[in-house]
Parts: sequence; C-alpha cells; structure tokens
Amino acid sequence: MGTKPQITNLEHAKADSICQRRRFDDRVNINSIMDSVTDAIILIDQDGVISFVNQQVKDLFGYEQDELIGRKIEMLLPELFQHRHVDQRKDYSANPSIRQMGISTDFFACRKDSTEFSCEIGLNPLETADGKFVVCTVHDISKRKYCEDALSENERKLNEQYTELKSIYSTSPVGMCLMDTDLRFLKCNEKLAKINGIPAADHIGRTLREIVPEIADKMESVYHKVIETGEPIIDVEASITAGDDSHKKRVFSACYYPIKSVDGVIQGVSSIVQEITQRKEAEESLQRLHKQLEMRVQERTKELTEANVKLRNEITERKKIGEELHIAEDEASMHRERLAHLIRVQTLGEMATGIAHEINQPLAAIESYAQASQMHLQSGKANPDKVEELLEKISGQAKRAGSVVSRLRTMMQHRTVNPVVVDINSLLSEVTNIAEIDARHHDCRLILKLSSSLPNVIGDEIQIQQVVLNLICNAIDAMADLTDEGEKEVIVETKRKDDKEIEISVTDNGPGISELDAGNIFEAFYTTKDSGMGMGLSICRSIIDAHGGEISYSQNKAGGTTFYFTLPVEKQTG
Ligand code: ADP
Repeated sequence: MGTKPQITNLEHAKADSICQRRRFDDRVNINSIMDSVTDAIILIDQDGVISFVNQQVKDLFGYEQDELIGRKIEMLLPELFQHRHVDQRKDYSANPSIRQMGISTDFFACRKDSTEFSCEIGLNPLETADGKFVVCTVHDISKRKYCEDALSENERKLNEQYTELKSIYSTSPVGMCLMDTDLRFLKCNEKLAKINGIPAADHIGRTLREIVPEIADKMESVYHKVIETGEPIIDVEASITAGDDSHKKRVFSACYYPIKSVDGVIQGVSSIVQEITQRKEAEESLQRLHKQLEMRVQERTKELTEANVKLRNEITERKKIGEELHIAEDEASMHRERLAHLIRVQTLGEMATGIAHEINQPLAAIESYAQASQMHLQSGKANPDKVEELLEKISGQAKRAGSVVSRLRTMMQHRTVNPVVVDINSLLSEVTNIAEIDARHHDCRLILKLSSSLPNVIGDEIQIQQVVLNLICNAIDAMADLTDEGEKEVIVETKRKDDKEIEISVTDNGPGISELDAGNIFEAFYTTKDSGMGMGLSICRSIIDAHGGEISYSQNKAGGTTFYFTLPVEKQTG
C-alpha cells in the first residue's frame, strides 16, 4: 500500500495565494489598471504607431481610441514639431532608455481641437514577445505652468517694486523712514538723515528719542495712534531748532502710514517728512501782507467815505450855486430885456426927428385936405362926391400916420421874450418900414435883397427887429460924412448859409472900423460917437447869442462895413 504524500502548511498557503491571484486577475484586467492611473499612457511600436491608449489619453486629447490606434504618434504633436519628432523617435529607437522630457525644456502636445498644452513626457522602452515598444506617459502640466508663470511674474513685479522702493528712498526729495512697532528705525533715507543731522546708517535700530529728542513725545504719540488704529495720519506739523548758529525754527510736515502684513497685522509705520519752513514763512508773510492790506483797505474805505461825504456836501453846495445861477441868469435876462427896451426907446428917440417928419407929412396933408373941404363947403356949391373924396384922402393920410405910430408903439413896448416861428423876410420888410423913415431923413437909400424860400427861424420878433434896426442905424451913422449924391446906401440882405442856419447882413459904404476900435465895438459902453451910448452892438450880441446864432462883421474890399448875424433854422419834425 502506498502512502499518500502529506501536504505541508506552506504548500497550502502557496496554493491559496495563487488562487487568490487568479481570482483577482479575473476581476481586474490590465486595461482597467491602465485607466485608473492619473497620467495618459500611450503605447507605440518601433515605427511610432500607436497600439494602446488609456482612458486619460481620451480625456486629455479628446480623441476616441479608434481614432488613435494604428495612427502615428506625431498626430498628438503640434504641426511645428511633427517633422523633427520623426527623427528624434528614430534616434530613441536606436538607443532606448527611460527618459523624462519637458522638465528642463517646454514640451507641447496638441489636442483634437488643435489647442496645445504644456506637458511632461516619460518614455519607457518595453520588450515583449510581440516586439519592442515604448510606453509614453503624458502628464498635463499646463495648470502648473500657468501657476509657475504667474509666480515668476509676481516675483518679477516684487523685485521691480523693491528696486523702485529703493530708488524712491534714495532719490526722494522728502525724508522717508520705516519704523518698527517698538518705534525703532528700520530704514531711513538720505534726505531724512540730512534733516535729522545724523547719518542714515546710524538711525537703524535706534529710537525716536535717541534721534529727535526735541519732538520725540509728540511723534511717539502719533506713531502709537497709527499702530493702534491702523489708520494713516497725515499732515502732522512739528518744529525743531536748527542745529547751526542760527537757532532758527525749522518746520516740518509729516504723514504716517501703517505697514500691514497680508493678514492685516501692523508690522511698522512708514513716514514721509517734508520741510515746510519756507512755505510757512511765505504763509506768515502773506498773512502779514493780508493784514496790512486789510488795514489799508479799511483806511482807504474811511478816506473814501469821508471824501464821499465831502463830495455830497460839495454837490449840495454846487446845486445851491446852480440854483442861484439860474436865479441870476433869470435876473440877467430880465435886465437884458429891460436894457434892450431902453436901447430901443433910445434908438427910436434918435429917430424922433425923422419920425416926426414922417408923421408931419400926413398931418400936413390932412390939414390941406381939411382946408380944401372947408373952402368947398363954404363956396355954397358943395358937391357931396367931392367932399367924400376929400374926406377919403383925409382918412388915408390919417391911416398912414396911424400905422407909423402903431409900429413905433410895438417897438416901444416892454414885454418878455416870446419865441415864435418867424419868417425872416417879412420881419425885415416890417422893420425896414421904420428904418426907411430914418434913412430918408439922412438922404440914404435902403435896399432890400431878400433870398426867396428861406426856411423859418424860431425867435423873438421884436428882439430880431431891434438887432436889424441897430445895424441899419449904425450904417446910416457911419455914412453921415459922405457928401456925394447917391453914395449913401444901406443894403439889407438875407441868404441861406447852410442846412442849419440863415444869414442876415447889413452893408454900408462908410469909412469902416479902425484897428483901434476893432476889438472893442461889441463891448458895452464903447462908442466913438459924441452922442453914442456904446450899448447897441453889445445888446445885439447878447440877443443873437440867446437865439443860438453868431454876430460879426467884415471890412469890405470896396470900402465900408458888412455886419452879419446867423440864426438857426427851425428844426423840421417828423
Ligand atoms: P453907439 O452906436 O452908441 O456908438 P454901438 O455899440 O452901436 O454904440 O457901436 C459902437 C461903435 O461901433 C460905434 O461907436 C462905432 O465906432 C462902431 N460902429 C458900429 N457900426 C459901425 C459901422 N457900420 N461902421 C463903422 N463903425 C461902426
């Protein structure tokens, strides 16, 4: 009888393990292992043909397995690298080894949608019964790359900022320092070192009290406040005494900013210090000037107010004088009127002989007509028609004498000035009726040369007549010594001078006016005549002035004088 060989415990255990492994193999095949790894795995043969891809390849590149199996690996590379890769792959096949790519240099793969991404590639040669293969693991590092790039950009910016900060500190025209929370200097620029009069390096690690004892109390409280509140404090003014002989007060303005860590904890305080001594001095002198200016303005205002009061008083005073002047003018005009009247009366008085003669003539005629009537009636053969004829003649002569008297009465009247619209030609005809009496009496011819269609003037008729009468009487007087028959001639002429004025002139053949008299004839009481009063021309001038005209004279080339005056024409309305 043969004995059955005994199975040891060790053999049992071994058999169990093999069984377990088989059961495990049944449940988990190689493909599911490949799909469970995080990297994309691609198996290619010696010619670069893809023979296997795991699930991650699909996810990463966007291709289905069918689209990749049997195709060349280059399809997963950007077009730019595909050609070169064929050679590189061949080199690798000649000398296969485990290799990592994309670590020191950037390596790019291309997705189905043509987008590219950075990746790291692992190459592992694999020999199987079916031939030589290469296992490629593709690890997408685009996110990591992005982070790395952002990090290096941040680092670059940080470096830049640090360099900038350093240069700001060194070149800043204002003092800058950095204090820790114990109020010791961590940093101090040259400008602040200069302000404090202590080298920048000697500030480091020292306290405010050691560097600026004069203002340490004030500064410390400001720093503490910034540290406590975490808020900046700006424009704090402080003054220190200059270290030099001047002992001048130097004024500074400073700003304090808390320096916080990322989590908001105060790490220190940065401050900017600027000297404002000059600005302060300028402000103070500006204030002084402003005060001075205000004082000047106040003084000036006072002066002006006083001047104003003075001016007001003066104005009141002047108004009074004005008013008084008006009264005086009214009085003067009244006197002028009276004087003009007197002169008229005097002139007419001078003409009395001629006038008496003029009235005598009709009176004599009346007398003779009356006598003739009486004789006719006494004859007993009185014819009523004849008597009526004689009576009519008497009446005519009486009218003639009456008209002379009425003209005289008008001229003799004393009345106030009465400006009216005057037709100057008819006015002259009227006045020459009286003047003619005097002219005739002196064997003198009175000639009128009146321009037709003259515009009217505004004036006082009697005063204008008086002027003309005066000039005619003077002309007759001037020719008193002429003896030749027909030589005595007075021409009264009117003409339009221009748009605004008419001119009336009286010309004689007299001896003219001597140089001696020339400047005086218009003066009151200047006369060269024995019985003259010297008021005629003076009153003529004041009458013509009051009418807005001018009176003057000229010596005639052929001898004699022409007196002329102008009067403004009536303004046409509408
Ligand atoms: P009166 O006739 O009383 O002398 P006027 O004032 O009228 O006063 O004249 C002043 C003077 O002007 C006259 O005395 C005379 O010397 C001079 N005069 C005036 N008109 C003429 C004239 N036509 N020719 C020469 N002298 C004249």
